[in-house]
Amino acid sequence: MTLWTPDSWRALPALQQPHYNDQAQLLTIEEQLRQQPPLVFADEVSQLRRQLADAAQGKAFLLQGGDCAETFADFSSAGIRDLFKVLMQMAVVLTYAGRKPVIKVGRLAGQFAKPRSADTEVREGIELPSFRGDSVNGVEFTAAARAADPERMLQAYHQSTATLNLVRAFAQGGLADLHQVNDWILSFVRGNPGCDQYLQLAHQIKDALAFMEVCGITSETSSALRSTTLFTSHEALLLNYEQALTRQDSTSGQWFDCSAHMLWVGERTRQLDGAHIEFLRGIANPVGVKISNAIAADDLLRLVDILNPENEAGRLTLISRMGADKTEQFLPALAKRIADEGRQVVWSCDPMHGNTVKAANGYKTRSFDHIMLEIEQFFAVLSACGQHAGGLHLEMTGAHVTECVGGAYHVSEEDLASCYQTQCDPRLNAQQVLELSFKVAELIKS
Ligand code: PEP
Ligand code: MN
Repeated sequence: MTLWTPDSWRALPALQQPHYNDQAQLLTIEEQLRQQPPLVFADEVSQLRRQLADAAQGKAFLLQGGDCAETFADFSSAGIRDLFKVLMQMAVVLTYAGRKPVIKVGRLAGQFAKPRSADTEVREGIELPSFRGDSVNGVEFTAAARAADPERMLQAYHQSTATLNLVRAFAQGGLADLHQVNDWILSFVRGNPGCDQYLQLAHQIKDALAFMEVCGITSETSSALRSTTLFTSHEALLLNYEQALTRQDSTSGQWFDCSAHMLWVGERTRQLDGAHIEFLRGIANPVGVKISNAIAADDLLRLVDILNPENEAGRLTLISRMGADKTEQFLPALAKRIADEGRQVVWSCDPMHGNTVKAANGYKTRSFDHIMLEIEQFFAVLSACGQHAGGLHLEMTGAHVTECVGGAYHVSEEDLASCYQTQCDPRLNAQQVLELSFKVAELIKS
Protein backbone atom coordinates (compact mmCIF):
# COMPACT_ATOMS: atom_id res chain seq x y z
CA MET A 1 0.00 0.00 0.00
CA THR A 2 1.32 3.46 -0.87
CA LEU A 3 2.15 6.10 1.70
CA TRP A 4 -0.87 7.95 3.05
CA THR A 5 -0.83 11.72 3.39
CA PRO A 6 -3.79 14.06 3.97
CA ASP A 7 -3.70 14.84 0.25
CA SER A 8 -2.86 11.42 -1.20
CA TRP A 9 -6.52 11.14 -2.28
CA ARG A 10 -5.82 13.80 -4.90
CA ALA A 11 -4.01 11.31 -7.14
CA LEU A 12 -7.14 9.14 -7.40
CA PRO A 13 -10.51 9.57 -9.08
CA ALA A 14 -12.88 11.46 -6.75
CA LEU A 15 -16.56 11.07 -7.61
CA GLN A 16 -19.30 13.53 -6.68
CA GLN A 17 -17.00 16.55 -6.34
CA PRO A 18 -18.12 20.05 -7.33
CA HIS A 19 -16.60 21.78 -10.34
CA TYR A 20 -15.13 25.02 -9.06
CA ASN A 21 -14.56 27.62 -11.76
CA ASP A 22 -12.10 29.69 -9.78
CA GLN A 23 -9.25 27.44 -8.64
CA ALA A 24 -7.35 30.34 -7.05
CA GLN A 25 -10.35 31.15 -4.89
CA LEU A 26 -10.63 27.49 -3.91
CA LEU A 27 -7.01 27.48 -2.75
CA THR A 28 -7.58 30.64 -0.70
CA ILE A 29 -10.60 29.13 1.05
CA GLU A 30 -8.78 25.87 1.74
CA GLU A 31 -5.98 27.87 3.33
CA GLN A 32 -8.48 29.80 5.44
CA LEU A 33 -10.07 26.55 6.59
CA ARG A 34 -6.65 25.22 7.53
CA GLN A 35 -6.21 28.23 9.82
CA GLN A 36 -9.45 27.57 11.70
CA PRO A 37 -9.50 25.75 15.03
CA PRO A 38 -10.53 22.09 14.98
CA LEU A 39 -14.21 21.36 15.63
CA VAL A 40 -13.48 18.22 17.66
CA PHE A 41 -10.49 16.97 19.61
CA ALA A 42 -8.42 13.83 19.34
CA ASP A 43 -9.31 12.61 22.85
CA GLU A 44 -13.03 12.85 22.16
CA VAL A 45 -12.60 10.98 18.90
CA SER A 46 -10.66 8.23 20.65
CA GLN A 47 -13.33 8.03 23.34
CA LEU A 48 -15.96 7.42 20.63
CA ARG A 49 -13.75 4.79 19.07
CA ARG A 50 -13.52 2.94 22.40
CA GLN A 51 -17.27 3.09 22.85
CA LEU A 52 -17.79 1.75 19.32
CA ALA A 53 -15.45 -1.12 20.16
CA ASP A 54 -18.03 -2.07 22.79
CA ALA A 55 -20.79 -1.85 20.18
CA ALA A 56 -18.84 -4.21 17.91
CA GLN A 57 -18.83 -6.71 20.76
CA GLY A 58 -22.53 -6.32 21.56
CA LYS A 59 -21.89 -4.35 24.74
CA ALA A 60 -23.22 -1.00 23.51
CA PHE A 61 -25.59 0.25 20.82
CA LEU A 62 -24.97 3.03 18.29
CA LEU A 63 -27.76 5.53 17.69
CA GLN A 64 -26.85 7.82 14.78
CA GLY A 65 -29.40 10.29 13.49
CA GLY A 66 -30.19 13.71 12.12
CA ASP A 67 -30.92 15.57 8.92
CA CYS A 68 -30.30 14.21 5.46
CA ALA A 69 -28.80 17.63 4.78
CA GLU A 70 -28.33 20.53 7.17
CA THR A 71 -29.14 23.86 5.56
CA PHE A 72 -28.10 27.46 6.00
CA ALA A 73 -31.74 28.61 5.82
CA ASP A 74 -33.16 26.30 8.51
CA PHE A 75 -30.43 26.92 11.03
CA SER A 76 -31.97 27.65 14.44
CA SER A 77 -31.32 26.89 18.08
CA ALA A 78 -34.86 25.49 18.34
CA GLY A 79 -34.13 22.99 15.57
CA ILE A 80 -30.93 21.80 17.23
CA ARG A 81 -32.65 21.65 20.63
CA ASP A 82 -35.54 19.57 19.30
CA LEU A 83 -33.23 17.10 17.57
CA PHE A 84 -31.14 16.83 20.73
CA LYS A 85 -34.24 16.24 22.89
CA VAL A 86 -35.62 13.51 20.69
CA LEU A 87 -32.24 11.73 20.43
CA MET A 88 -32.04 11.74 24.24
CA GLN A 89 -35.50 10.24 24.57
CA MET A 90 -34.71 7.52 22.05
CA ALA A 91 -31.44 6.78 23.81
CA VAL A 92 -33.15 6.40 27.19
CA VAL A 93 -35.76 4.01 25.80
CA LEU A 94 -33.10 1.93 24.03
CA THR A 95 -30.71 1.94 26.99
CA TYR A 96 -33.39 0.76 29.37
CA ALA A 97 -34.67 -1.93 27.03
CA GLY A 98 -31.26 -3.14 25.89
CA ARG A 99 -29.55 -2.87 29.27
CA LYS A 100 -26.50 -1.44 27.57
CA PRO A 101 -25.13 2.03 26.91
CA VAL A 102 -26.37 3.85 23.83
CA ILE A 103 -23.73 5.84 21.93
CA LYS A 104 -25.37 8.98 20.61
CA VAL A 105 -24.01 10.34 17.33
CA GLY A 106 -25.73 13.19 15.47
CA ARG A 107 -25.81 13.64 11.73
CA LEU A 108 -25.11 17.29 12.42
CA ALA A 109 -22.52 20.06 12.65
CA GLY A 110 -21.13 19.27 9.20
CA GLN A 111 -23.73 17.25 7.25
CA PHE A 112 -24.04 19.65 4.32
CA ALA A 113 -22.67 18.04 1.15
CA LYS A 114 -24.83 15.62 -0.85
CA PRO A 115 -24.06 13.03 -3.53
CA ARG A 116 -26.48 13.22 -6.47
CA SER A 117 -27.63 10.68 -9.03
CA ALA A 118 -27.08 13.14 -11.91
CA ASP A 119 -24.59 15.99 -12.41
CA THR A 120 -27.22 18.25 -13.89
CA GLU A 121 -30.92 18.88 -13.57
CA VAL A 122 -33.23 19.92 -16.41
CA ARG A 123 -36.35 22.02 -15.81
CA GLU A 124 -38.48 23.34 -18.64
CA GLY A 125 -35.67 22.84 -21.12
CA ILE A 126 -33.05 24.57 -18.96
CA GLU A 127 -30.10 22.50 -17.76
CA LEU A 128 -28.18 23.52 -14.61
CA PRO A 129 -25.79 21.77 -12.22
CA SER A 130 -27.56 19.66 -9.59
CA PHE A 131 -27.87 20.98 -6.04
CA ARG A 132 -25.08 19.34 -4.01
CA GLY A 133 -25.84 20.67 -0.55
CA ASP A 134 -25.42 24.09 1.04
CA SER A 135 -21.66 23.72 1.46
CA VAL A 136 -21.39 23.52 -2.35
CA ASN A 137 -24.14 25.52 -4.09
CA GLY A 138 -27.64 26.95 -3.62
CA VAL A 139 -30.89 25.04 -4.02
CA GLU A 140 -32.64 27.74 -6.13
CA PHE A 141 -32.84 26.83 -9.79
CA THR A 142 -30.76 29.69 -11.19
CA ALA A 143 -27.35 29.58 -12.84
CA ALA A 144 -25.94 31.88 -10.13
CA ALA A 145 -27.19 29.77 -7.23
CA ARG A 146 -26.16 26.46 -8.78
CA ALA A 147 -22.56 27.54 -9.44
CA ALA A 148 -20.25 25.85 -6.91
CA ASP A 149 -18.90 28.47 -4.49
CA PRO A 150 -15.94 27.58 -2.21
CA GLU A 151 -16.98 30.33 0.27
CA ARG A 152 -19.84 28.06 1.23
CA MET A 153 -17.38 25.66 2.88
CA LEU A 154 -16.39 28.44 5.28
CA GLN A 155 -20.02 29.19 6.05
CA ALA A 156 -20.63 25.48 6.70
CA TYR A 157 -17.64 25.43 9.02
CA HIS A 158 -18.91 28.43 10.99
CA GLN A 159 -22.43 27.02 11.24
CA SER A 160 -20.93 23.75 12.47
CA THR A 161 -19.00 25.55 15.22
CA ALA A 162 -22.16 27.31 16.40
CA THR A 163 -24.11 24.05 16.30
CA LEU A 164 -21.46 22.22 18.29
CA ASN A 165 -21.27 24.99 20.83
CA LEU A 166 -24.98 24.60 21.55
CA VAL A 167 -24.84 20.80 21.53
CA ARG A 168 -22.02 20.81 24.07
CA ALA A 169 -24.01 23.20 26.29
CA PHE A 170 -27.16 21.06 26.05
CA ALA A 171 -25.19 17.91 26.83
CA GLN A 172 -23.62 19.41 29.96
CA GLY A 173 -26.53 21.56 31.02
CA GLY A 174 -30.22 21.11 31.59
CA LEU A 175 -31.29 19.18 28.52
CA ALA A 176 -29.69 15.86 29.39
CA ASP A 177 -31.18 15.33 32.86
CA LEU A 178 -32.64 11.84 32.84
CA HIS A 179 -35.66 12.81 34.96
CA GLN A 180 -36.59 15.50 32.50
CA VAL A 181 -35.99 13.23 29.52
CA ASN A 182 -38.29 10.64 31.08
CA ASP A 183 -41.01 13.26 31.62
CA TRP A 184 -40.88 14.05 27.89
CA ILE A 185 -41.14 10.34 27.11
CA LEU A 186 -44.18 10.01 29.37
CA SER A 187 -45.92 12.95 27.78
CA PHE A 188 -45.16 11.53 24.32
CA VAL A 189 -46.67 8.16 25.24
CA ARG A 190 -49.75 9.70 26.89
CA GLY A 191 -50.40 12.08 24.02
CA ASN A 192 -49.89 9.64 21.19
CA PRO A 193 -52.70 7.46 19.85
CA GLY A 194 -51.74 3.82 19.53
CA CYS A 195 -48.79 4.12 21.90
CA ASP A 196 -50.57 3.02 25.11
CA GLN A 197 -48.63 -0.23 25.07
CA TYR A 198 -45.44 1.72 25.70
CA LEU A 199 -46.73 3.32 28.90
CA GLN A 200 -45.49 0.37 30.92
CA LEU A 201 -41.90 0.78 29.73
CA ALA A 202 -42.00 4.54 30.34
CA HIS A 203 -43.25 3.92 33.90
CA GLN A 204 -40.59 1.32 34.52
CA ILE A 205 -37.93 3.89 33.66
CA LYS A 206 -39.58 6.37 36.04
CA ASP A 207 -39.62 3.74 38.81
CA ALA A 208 -35.95 2.95 38.20
CA LEU A 209 -35.07 6.63 38.56
CA ALA A 210 -37.19 6.89 41.74
CA PHE A 211 -35.44 3.86 43.20
CA MET A 212 -32.01 5.32 42.44
CA GLU A 213 -33.06 8.57 44.08
CA VAL A 214 -33.97 6.74 47.29
CA CYS A 215 -30.52 5.18 47.18
CA GLY A 216 -29.00 8.66 46.98
CA ILE A 217 -28.20 8.65 43.24
CA THR A 218 -29.71 11.89 42.03
CA SER A 219 -29.00 14.47 39.37
CA GLU A 220 -27.14 16.43 42.04
CA THR A 221 -24.94 13.54 43.15
CA SER A 222 -24.38 11.81 39.81
CA SER A 223 -23.16 13.53 36.67
CA ALA A 224 -24.26 10.47 34.66
CA LEU A 225 -27.87 11.41 35.43
CA ARG A 226 -27.57 15.03 34.36
CA SER A 227 -25.10 15.09 31.51
CA THR A 228 -24.27 13.12 28.40
CA THR A 229 -22.19 13.18 25.24
CA LEU A 230 -23.54 13.70 21.76
CA PHE A 231 -20.87 12.99 19.16
CA THR A 232 -21.01 14.46 15.65
CA SER A 233 -20.77 12.83 12.24
CA HIS A 234 -21.30 13.49 8.56
CA GLU A 235 -20.59 12.00 5.16
CA ALA A 236 -16.96 12.71 4.20
CA LEU A 237 -17.93 13.72 0.69
CA LEU A 238 -16.27 17.06 0.06
CA LEU A 239 -12.65 16.06 0.28
CA ASN A 240 -11.22 19.59 0.03
CA TYR A 241 -13.13 20.46 3.22
CA GLU A 242 -12.16 17.26 5.03
CA GLN A 243 -8.49 17.59 4.16
CA ALA A 244 -8.38 21.20 5.34
CA LEU A 245 -9.68 20.16 8.76
CA THR A 246 -7.35 17.17 9.10
CA ARG A 247 -4.69 17.74 11.74
CA GLN A 248 -1.82 15.75 13.20
CA ASP A 249 -2.11 14.98 16.90
CA SER A 250 1.04 16.23 18.55
CA THR A 251 1.23 13.43 21.10
CA SER A 252 0.42 10.34 19.04
CA GLY A 253 1.43 11.61 15.59
CA GLN A 254 -1.86 10.26 14.23
CA TRP A 255 -3.97 12.24 11.78
CA PHE A 256 -7.49 13.15 12.84
CA ASP A 257 -10.17 14.63 10.64
CA CYS A 258 -11.27 17.28 13.12
CA SER A 259 -14.45 18.21 11.21
CA ALA A 260 -16.41 15.55 13.17
CA HIS A 261 -15.94 12.67 15.57
CA MET A 262 -17.08 10.07 13.05
CA LEU A 263 -17.05 10.20 9.25
CA TRP A 264 -18.69 7.88 6.80
CA VAL A 265 -18.36 7.25 3.10
CA GLY A 266 -21.53 6.95 1.05
CA GLU A 267 -22.77 4.18 -1.20
CA ARG A 268 -21.87 6.22 -4.29
CA THR A 269 -18.26 7.03 -3.36
CA ARG A 270 -16.92 3.86 -1.76
CA GLN A 271 -14.91 2.58 -4.76
CA LEU A 272 -11.97 0.47 -3.58
CA ASP A 273 -9.51 2.48 -5.69
CA GLY A 274 -11.25 5.83 -5.27
CA ALA A 275 -10.26 9.03 -3.50
CA HIS A 276 -12.78 8.76 -0.65
CA ILE A 277 -11.58 5.38 0.61
CA GLU A 278 -7.99 6.59 0.24
CA PHE A 279 -8.73 9.62 2.42
CA LEU A 280 -10.63 7.67 5.09
CA ARG A 281 -8.03 4.93 5.42
CA GLY A 282 -5.46 7.34 6.85
CA ILE A 283 -7.46 9.18 9.48
CA ALA A 284 -7.68 7.86 13.03
CA ASN A 285 -11.39 8.65 13.46
CA PRO A 286 -13.94 5.88 13.59
CA VAL A 287 -15.31 5.55 10.07
CA GLY A 288 -18.44 4.11 8.52
CA VAL A 289 -19.24 2.74 5.08
CA LYS A 290 -22.71 2.58 3.60
CA ILE A 291 -23.37 -0.68 1.81
CA SER A 292 -26.25 -1.69 -0.42
CA ASN A 293 -27.02 -5.01 -2.04
CA ALA A 294 -24.71 -3.96 -4.89
CA ILE A 295 -21.55 -4.95 -3.03
CA ALA A 296 -20.09 -8.45 -3.44
CA ALA A 297 -18.76 -10.23 -0.34
CA ASP A 298 -15.20 -10.27 -1.75
CA ASP A 299 -15.24 -6.53 -2.33
CA LEU A 300 -16.68 -5.91 1.12
CA LEU A 301 -13.83 -7.86 2.66
CA ARG A 302 -11.30 -5.85 0.65
CA LEU A 303 -12.94 -2.63 1.75
CA VAL A 304 -12.88 -3.73 5.38
CA ASP A 305 -9.20 -4.60 5.15
CA ILE A 306 -8.25 -1.30 3.53
CA LEU A 307 -10.10 0.71 6.16
CA ASN A 308 -9.25 -1.45 9.15
CA PRO A 309 -6.03 -3.36 8.40
CA GLU A 310 -5.35 -4.02 12.09
CA ASN A 311 -8.88 -5.40 12.56
CA GLU A 312 -9.49 -3.14 15.55
CA ALA A 313 -12.99 -3.16 17.00
CA GLY A 314 -14.49 0.33 16.98
CA ARG A 315 -12.63 1.58 13.93
CA LEU A 316 -15.19 0.50 11.34
CA THR A 317 -18.97 0.56 11.16
CA LEU A 318 -20.74 -1.12 8.26
CA ILE A 319 -24.03 0.63 7.59
CA SER A 320 -26.40 -1.65 5.71
CA ARG A 321 -28.94 0.25 3.55
CA MET A 322 -30.55 -2.25 1.24
CA GLY A 323 -34.28 -1.72 1.50
CA ALA A 324 -36.95 -3.90 3.06
CA ASP A 325 -37.26 -5.81 -0.20
CA LYS A 326 -33.57 -6.77 -0.41
CA THR A 327 -32.15 -7.14 3.10
CA GLU A 328 -33.18 -10.77 3.65
CA GLN A 329 -31.81 -11.72 0.26
CA PHE A 330 -28.46 -9.91 0.28
CA LEU A 331 -27.36 -9.18 3.83
CA PRO A 332 -26.87 -12.81 5.03
CA ALA A 333 -23.98 -13.59 2.65
CA LEU A 334 -22.18 -10.39 3.65
CA ALA A 335 -22.71 -10.78 7.38
CA LYS A 336 -21.71 -14.43 7.20
CA ARG A 337 -18.50 -13.61 5.34
CA ILE A 338 -17.52 -10.97 7.87
CA ALA A 339 -18.25 -13.41 10.70
CA ASP A 340 -16.37 -16.31 9.05
CA GLU A 341 -13.32 -14.12 8.44
CA GLY A 342 -13.37 -12.85 12.02
CA ARG A 343 -13.52 -9.18 11.10
CA GLN A 344 -14.42 -6.78 13.92
CA VAL A 345 -17.09 -4.33 12.81
CA VAL A 346 -20.12 -2.56 14.17
CA TRP A 347 -23.13 -3.58 12.09
CA SER A 348 -25.53 -0.67 11.81
CA CYS A 349 -28.79 -0.39 9.89
CA ASP A 350 -29.80 2.60 7.75
CA PRO A 351 -33.41 1.69 6.95
CA MET A 352 -33.96 4.97 5.09
CA HIS A 353 -31.98 5.00 1.86
CA GLY A 354 -33.14 1.67 0.43
CA ASN A 355 -36.79 2.54 1.07
CA THR A 356 -37.20 5.85 -0.75
CA VAL A 357 -40.18 6.05 -3.12
CA LYS A 358 -42.02 8.72 -5.04
CA ALA A 359 -45.61 9.26 -3.86
CA ALA A 360 -48.38 9.63 -6.43
CA ASN A 361 -48.36 13.40 -5.81
CA GLY A 362 -44.64 13.64 -6.60
CA TYR A 363 -43.18 13.86 -3.07
CA LYS A 364 -40.17 11.74 -2.26
CA THR A 365 -41.17 9.70 0.78
CA ARG A 366 -40.51 6.59 2.88
CA SER A 367 -43.00 4.42 4.69
CA PHE A 368 -42.74 3.87 8.43
CA ASP A 369 -43.73 0.23 7.92
CA HIS A 370 -40.98 -0.42 5.38
CA ILE A 371 -38.45 1.27 7.63
CA MET A 372 -39.51 -0.93 10.57
CA LEU A 373 -39.51 -4.02 8.37
CA GLU A 374 -35.93 -3.44 7.26
CA ILE A 375 -34.84 -2.98 10.89
CA GLU A 376 -36.56 -6.22 11.91
CA GLN A 377 -34.92 -8.08 9.05
CA PHE A 378 -31.55 -6.59 9.93
CA PHE A 379 -31.83 -7.83 13.54
CA ALA A 380 -32.96 -11.27 12.40
CA VAL A 381 -30.22 -11.71 9.77
CA LEU A 382 -27.41 -10.66 12.08
CA SER A 383 -28.59 -12.83 14.89
CA ALA A 384 -28.81 -15.80 12.52
CA CYS A 385 -25.17 -15.13 11.53
CA GLY A 386 -24.03 -14.91 15.13
CA GLN A 387 -23.33 -11.18 14.79
CA HIS A 388 -24.58 -8.26 16.87
CA ALA A 389 -27.08 -5.77 15.51
CA GLY A 390 -24.99 -2.88 16.75
CA GLY A 391 -26.72 0.29 15.67
CA LEU A 392 -29.24 2.38 13.80
CA HIS A 393 -28.61 5.19 11.30
CA LEU A 394 -31.66 7.41 10.76
CA GLU A 395 -32.67 10.51 8.87
CA MET A 396 -34.83 12.26 11.41
CA THR A 397 -35.75 15.58 12.93
CA GLY A 398 -37.17 16.81 16.22
CA ALA A 399 -39.74 18.83 14.29
CA HIS A 400 -43.29 17.80 13.37
CA VAL A 401 -42.74 17.50 9.65
CA THR A 402 -44.73 15.31 7.28
CA GLU A 403 -42.11 13.70 5.06
CA CYS A 404 -42.40 9.97 5.79
CA VAL A 405 -45.79 8.26 5.58
CA GLY A 406 -47.28 6.04 8.29
CA GLY A 407 -46.73 5.72 12.03
CA ALA A 408 -49.31 5.99 14.78
CA TYR A 409 -50.60 9.29 13.34
CA HIS A 410 -51.09 7.66 9.93
CA VAL A 411 -49.37 10.36 7.89
CA SER A 412 -50.83 9.78 4.40
CA GLU A 413 -49.54 10.71 0.96
CA GLU A 414 -52.04 13.59 0.93
CA ASP A 415 -50.64 14.83 4.28
CA LEU A 416 -47.11 15.13 2.84
CA ALA A 417 -47.87 18.58 1.41
CA SER A 418 -48.82 20.05 4.80
CA CYS A 419 -45.32 20.22 6.31
CA TYR A 420 -42.71 18.93 3.87
CA GLN A 421 -39.52 20.83 4.68
CA THR A 422 -36.52 18.72 3.72
CA GLN A 423 -34.22 19.97 0.97
CA CYS A 424 -33.14 16.46 0.24
CA ASP A 425 -34.42 13.13 1.61
CA PRO A 426 -37.55 12.63 3.76
CA ARG A 427 -36.97 12.40 7.53
CA LEU A 428 -38.89 10.65 10.27
CA ASN A 429 -40.56 13.22 12.53
CA ALA A 430 -40.27 13.36 16.32
CA GLN A 431 -43.31 11.18 16.93
CA GLN A 432 -42.46 8.60 14.30
CA VAL A 433 -38.94 8.24 15.55
CA LEU A 434 -39.99 7.78 19.18
CA GLU A 435 -42.55 5.20 18.19
CA LEU A 436 -39.79 3.49 16.22
CA SER A 437 -37.56 3.47 19.31
CA PHE A 438 -40.20 1.66 21.37
CA LYS A 439 -40.51 -0.93 18.61
CA VAL A 440 -36.73 -1.32 18.36
CA ALA A 441 -36.65 -1.65 22.17
CA GLU A 442 -38.72 -4.82 21.76
CA LEU A 443 -36.18 -6.16 19.25
CA ILE A 444 -33.20 -5.35 21.44
CA LYS A 445 -34.80 -7.05 24.43
CA SER A 446 -35.52 -10.28 22.63
C1 PEP B 1 -27.12 9.82 3.05
O1 PEP B 1 -26.80 9.24 4.09
O2 PEP B 1 -27.74 10.90 3.03
C2 PEP B 1 -26.82 9.15 1.77
C3 PEP B 1 -26.71 9.82 0.63
O3 PEP B 1 -26.70 7.82 1.90
P1 PEP B 1 -26.20 6.68 0.90
O4 PEP B 1 -24.77 6.97 0.61
O5 PEP B 1 -26.39 5.44 1.73
O6 PEP B 1 -27.08 6.71 -0.30
MN1 MN C 1 -30.13 11.08 2.61
